[in-house]
Amino acid sequence: MANRETKGGNDMAFDITKKKAFVCDLDGTLFMGAKPIKPAVDFVIESTKSGRFSFFYLTNNTSKCPEEYMVKISGAAIPVTPEQILTPLITLEAYIREKRYKSVYLISSEKVKAHMQDRLADAGVSLDYDPETNELIALAYDKELTYEKLARATTLWNARPIDFVATHPDNCCPSELGPIPDVGGMLKLLETTNGMRPSHVFGKPSPTLLAPVLARFAPEEIAVVGDRLYTDKAIADNAGIDFVCVLSGETTRDDLARYEGTPPSIVVETFNQIDK
Ligand SMILES: [Mg+2]
Repeated sequence: MANRETKGGNDMAFDITKKKAFVCDLDGTLFMGAKPIKPAVDFVIESTKSGRFSFFYLTNNTSKCPEEYMVKISGAAIPVTPEQILTPLITLEAYIREKRYKSVYLISSEKVKAHMQDRLADAGVSLDYDPETNELIALAYDKELTYEKLARATTLWNARPIDFVATHPDNCCPSELGPIPDVGGMLKLLETTNGMRPSHVFGKPSPTLLAPVLARFAPEEIAVVGDRLYTDKAIADNAGIDFVCVLSGETTRDDLARYEGTPPSIVVETFNQIDK
């Protein structure tokens, strides 16, 4: 079986010589849980060290700070800086700045709240619950979620018109014990309570997450690399850039055969094989 396939069997469809930056999904693409997918990781290490490509690392998971992802990535010996980590927390920060909000009720873990407080220190933004001043409710993947936090969100929404955003849409988070609740389920709980719905949901597949990369590279110089069609391919499609589908994670050849959308730009067993 061929390891490398391109659109319509045409090897010219995906031109690696035009690429300058890859936006990499982590789980299923570079890691399997905590374990690095060695050939893919080796390719990233070599290409980073030689300066051949720039790499960015994409995650929707806002239960962790970017620093925690840096630990995971650098733990696999990949050289990495904070600017290379793309999480919806960056989009949330940009959104708060753009709207010039000064009082935000952020529903997140204490660690993520401290990270965001630090990021927004120069803008004088409070992230505490304050029914008098809150202008925005921001829902992150809060593994310290309590009934009180949910009730506060609905109380703010009930009292007066207020903006509401969520960091990402994922219904569940994969775990060793099967799917566990993520932001999507929290959104449904809130909507069921009083009809509250977010004005924006950041994270994959919203192309807003790619803004820092699109600011530096032309669309044809970038490709998203990932193992999920409905998130990784969707964000590439929404941003109008190439998608490298790896078979090292969730998507199988059977899934691709059944897939009704446009095919990925290229399909490889593991990321390193784009270079073969
Ligand atoms: Mg993945």
